[in-house]
Amino acid sequence: MKDMHCRDVGMNCDFVARGSTEQEIMDQAGRHAQQAHNMTVTPELADKVKGLIHDESSDAHRQSMARR
Ligand SMILES: [Zn+2]
Repeated sequence: MKDMHCRDVGMNCDFVARGSTEQEIMDQAGRHAQQAHNMTVTPELADKVKGLIHDESSDAHRQSMARR
């Protein structure tokens, strides 16, 4: 599984989008951004979010968890 931590985008938020594909995560993150943060996902934001998707077994994930 892969995931993306909203906190990594720069928000003070514990939301984590999880999925087996980048597209699943982007769908969840897009809905969350609109509902929770009243944000529109621009192409720039989508690029940033895509760059923050990581595997749950990766070092990047452990760092995201440690930041809580
Ligand atoms: Zn959030």
